[in-house]
Amino acid sequence: MTLPADIADRLSRLALPGLAIIDGRHEEAASGATFHNVSPRDGLVLNQVTACQGEDVARAVASARAAFEDGRWRDQGPRAKKKVLFRLAELMERDAEELALLESLDVGKPISDARNVDVPLAIGTCRWYAEALDKVYGEVGASPVDRLSYAVHEPLGVIGAIVPWNFPLHMAMWKVAPALAMGNSVVLKPAEQSPLTALKLGELALEAGLPPGVLNVTPGLGGVAGEALALSNDVDMIAFTGSGPVGRKLMEYSARSNLKRVSLELGGKSPQIVFADCPDLDAAAQAAAWGVFYNQGEVCTAASRLLVEASIKDAFLEKVVAVAKSMVVGDPLDASTQFGAMVSERQMNTALDYIATADSQGARRVLGGARVRQESGGFYVEPTIFDGLEADHTLAREEVFGPVLGVMSFKSEDEAMRLANDTVYGLAAGLWTSDINRALRGAKRLKAGLVWVNGWDACDITMPFGGFKQSGFGRDRSLHALHKYADLKSVSVTLR
Ligand code: NAD
Repeated sequence: MTLPADIADRLSRLALPGLAIIDGRHEEAASGATFHNVSPRDGLVLNQVTACQGEDVARAVASARAAFEDGRWRDQGPRAKKKVLFRLAELMERDAEELALLESLDVGKPISDARNVDVPLAIGTCRWYAEALDKVYGEVGASPVDRLSYAVHEPLGVIGAIVPWNFPLHMAMWKVAPALAMGNSVVLKPAEQSPLTALKLGELALEAGLPPGVLNVTPGLGGVAGEALALSNDVDMIAFTGSGPVGRKLMEYSARSNLKRVSLELGGKSPQIVFADCPDLDAAAQAAAWGVFYNQGEVCTAASRLLVEASIKDAFLEKVVAVAKSMVVGDPLDASTQFGAMVSERQMNTALDYIATADSQGARRVLGGARVRQESGGFYVEPTIFDGLEADHTLAREEVFGPVLGVMSFKSEDEAMRLANDTVYGLAAGLWTSDINRALRGAKRLKAGLVWVNGWDACDITMPFGGFKQSGFGRDRSLHALHKYADLKSVSVTLR
């Protein structure tokens, strides 16, 4: 594939990180094990990355524990902590172009998204928690006159952060920044599909002045490195973003080990509801298409079910199809590409299987459905839309985590709410209407951790992020995330 000259030049000078970061040093696995890190852009191996085994994870956990217990980070004052986290944000800004390139190569997302969305949001998250860390207050209880009772937030200790591949740096920062801000030590386990920016983050944190051992990065396979971390008796909490089946395992691991806390950000089957009184059908069509196709559909909040009031369904669907058709599918490293490669051959085949199942169950394919750009060697599936989705179709029930939209119609508000809530998930939901009462009723009735009215994904770091039902529990973003990484201690002093 031919590349723009500036990208080709950067690529030729790009150093791909591959070694784990344990106790402030670059480390190989003790066994020397590595895994192939493949770029979905062309299916070629990018580099060999350390495949941490149980013994390597144990070293990282021991290093994090030692760092926590001797207070080299925990006991630094708020100003000192802020300084390091702000410095980290500055260094990420300095290396933003490199981070964006690593992210795009590793997961196949358009370089323009990595540059304009992933990397700036990760930097913004780091800054936000640096600013927030001295705004966490305790409480003074209503004590009798001869007693003073107060409650303080104390860091938990060693946090195991296990993160997915769809927004690798951004999701890592959602865990790492608040965990560090509260004074914890962290062992970060990136997804095996996307280790590069997490490794770079570990390097930058050391350069920023974070003491060795406070942030360790242990790449490796989920069932090996991830499992070892989650089964460790010396890890106080696992903060996880990923799939439901792995989320279930993490709760089992906790029960089998030290009853560590677990927070789970899992998947979704998010509905976007368009009523006939929608204030702006063109904006809603943009949101319907980009809500599901952004990042090749590999988004946990993807608006994968579109529910449209029957009277406008056909006309509205035409608009959505037009937006989807206009999306530029191409090489992720080309700045004009809006829709890149899926993260892996496996993820691509999963999406293609869901498309075949939807065909066989009688949904009507109105757009896409095929693998494209096969000559590149990469893993590309075009934006795909099915109309006539029925509530019992697999596509209406299971998360694809790929670029596949299912469309249903409804005749009443009650029916729309029933269809929207007819899922085991509860991550996000949206509705478009000009009726303020209907909007507020809907916001109450929708069983989801995030509800958007007349917009999609219209919120930011200031608002909590997480799911209801089988979309998990615990919240990322906002001040709530700081409390997640702390324990509450009550102290009562009897005055004599
Ligand atoms: P996954 O659950 O397979 O992997 C996520 C992480 O868990 C990876 O780091 C992986 O190595 C690790 N892992 C796998 N098996 C493990 C085990 N036995 N023990 C410990 N760790 C293990 O998910 P994925 O395929 O990488 O990501 C896609 C899923 O993540 C989708 O279902 C999606 O909805 C969900 N997701 C959710 C959010 C959210 O915020 N709610 C965000 C992104 C992705």
